[in-house]
Amino acid sequence: MARITVRNFMEDVVMRAYKDYIERDPAFCRCDRCKRDAIVIALNNLQAKYVGSEEGEIRAAVAQSDRQIKTDATLALIQAVQLVKERPHHREGA
Ligand SMILES: [Zn+2]
Repeated sequence: MARITVRNFMEDVVMRAYKDYIERDPAFCRCDRCKRDAIVIALNNLQAKYVGSEEGEIRAAVAQSDRQIKTDATLALIQAVQLVKERPHHREGA
């Protein structure tokens, strides 16, 4: 049986929300650790939406995703950023 590969396209939606967000919040730490934490927390608070893992399918799914999905992703990301700000996991001075 062929191996199937799927991907949660919310990853792309949240990633986009993250990029938009950090442009508006210069105070949020730019390190990879904080970025990853914020994105992981946001994704865990959102319902996963799976599509086939081909680039085209993911892009189509993200393009077609409705306003509600984008709004949910943005809100989940903002909450996640607050948590990371309160308790950053990066090392002091890093
Ligand atoms: Zn950081």
